[in-house]
Amino acid sequence: MAVQQHGIKYIGCRNEQTACYAAQAMGYLTRRPVVCLVVSGPGLLHAIGGLANATVNCWPVICIGGSSDVDQEGRGAFQEWPQLESARSACKLVSRPTTLSAIPFHIEKAVRTALYGRPGAVYIDIPGNLVLSTEDEAKIPKLPKVSMIPVCIPPENIMKTAIDTIKDAKKPLVIVGKGAGWSERGPTMVQHFLTKSKLPWLASPGGKGIVSDNHERSVASARSLALREADLIILIGARFNWILHFGLPPRFQKDAKVVQIDIQPEEFHQNVQTTVPLMGDIGETLYAMTEHMKNWHYNVHGDWMKQLMENANKNKQVVEKMASDHKTPLNYYAAYHPIRDFISKNDVLIVNEGANTMDIGRTMMPSNLPRRRLDAGTFGTMGVGQGYALAAALYCRDHSPKTKVLCVQGDSAFGFSGMELETIARYKLPVVTVILNNSGIYRGMTPEDMKSVDGDPTLMYPVLSLSAECRYDQMAKALGGDGCMVRTVPEIADALEKAFKKTDGPTVINAIISTDSERKAQTFHWLTRSNI
Ligand code: ADP
Repeated sequence: MAVQQHGIKYIGCRNEQTACYAAQAMGYLTRRPVVCLVVSGPGLLHAIGGLANATVNCWPVICIGGSSDVDQEGRGAFQEWPQLESARSACKLVSRPTTLSAIPFHIEKAVRTALYGRPGAVYIDIPGNLVLSTEDEAKIPKLPKVSMIPVCIPPENIMKTAIDTIKDAKKPLVIVGKGAGWSERGPTMVQHFLTKSKLPWLASPGGKGIVSDNHERSVASARSLALREADLIILIGARFNWILHFGLPPRFQKDAKVVQIDIQPEEFHQNVQTTVPLMGDIGETLYAMTEHMKNWHYNVHGDWMKQLMENANKNKQVVEKMASDHKTPLNYYAAYHPIRDFISKNDVLIVNEGANTMDIGRTMMPSNLPRRRLDAGTFGTMGVGQGYALAAALYCRDHSPKTKVLCVQGDSAFGFSGMELETIARYKLPVVTVILNNSGIYRGMTPEDMKSVDGDPTLMYPVLSLSAECRYDQMAKALGGDGCMVRTVPEIADALEKAFKKTDGPTVINAIISTDSERKAQTFHWLTRSNI
């Protein structure tokens, strides 16, 4: 109530974890840290999943938690818990002011730490005795606002070495990661660099949209081939972690060279040797490098480009075949068909979460603008969906009113935070959630399968199954939104059109799909152990 009186906006979530996911998504979208306010003990513990997610994702967030009175420590106080120790491993910084007049220093440092360098989470602990104390306002220091994020570029000779290395490569490949979306001039300069250099490129899942998926030299559909055969990787704001298969064979060439731009020096030589480490801000570094490149560009008529494009076209045809098979129950690709059509005609901020729902969504939902896609991210966190959608809707309302928020989740993913539909309804936010409901995680049971189970369900139910054809749409109605259950492509298309006409609250489109729909055959899986 006090902060509202100061004009600070407050959103009351149903659970601290969702609040923390929503706050960090808002931080990433606005490039300013948002505060997640939690109660003591269990309140902070619920938020720690969110803090860890932010730090692993390199997104800023500040959590302020109440805690029990310091003079009751160790005596079994209400919700007493070692909060600083608990938060420490999930955060860049934890701190606890001991007087009211010290609070501004802690807040100023929290904002700086969350934003500067590689962004991440910060926790500030406010014990109960501090909350109830008072101080003469004149004694509270007024600190200046945290100034813009300082940026740096690598030394000129290293940038020139990077350009020479790029010119020497026969099979270069640019990989654009979500760090490029965070850098202020990142998206503009990545686009500029790719236009001038004419290099083939693809995005990491988090880097989608920094350059449009429809870009003429996007080789996303030839991902496996491009990674496997490239002799030079130009890594821009991405890490050689599990998402990029640690940069190792068999997914990459053993002796592939690496030119890497990152703001965090420890990231260089991680898992593979970096041939040319470019320590600097992505936007500013690429601007300078493009200047040094002068009129050079890669030969787009060579064999590498041809090989990539042929492979991309072949893979696209396999996907299109599945997407145009509209028999019911639908497969994932067919269910995504009308969603893709809708996205191609509208400016949409997508939240995508699930197992197959997310993997296939990455292929089926084009991203054409920066910071228009939020998903389970580096931590592979399930449960972020409704919190991210809440933040996305608030962001669009204030900063991009024409952008629509579409959250596409699996039925399992939706279950983690479905109650936040009530929050979204309370604040009258027009979020449309499509649940691709296969009645389980990877696969489920049909209503008939469920009926045929005869015996103790704890021994009989397949471990990955959830309730068959559960009516999440009715839950949305109960919590103050709208809902419908659909099974065919025209029904999904129609439901989307209707849902987006609504401007005041959530809609859930419960799309029942085949219980055993699969991803297209993969040469490699993300979580293969062969290259660890
Ligand atoms: P992705 O999930 O797309 O692979 P990651 O989150 O793994 O991307 O990696 C993002 C990388 O970008 C991190 O190593 C981070 O240090 C880096 N980064 C973040 N902001 C900037 C910036 N402004 N300039 C350069 N590098 C940045």
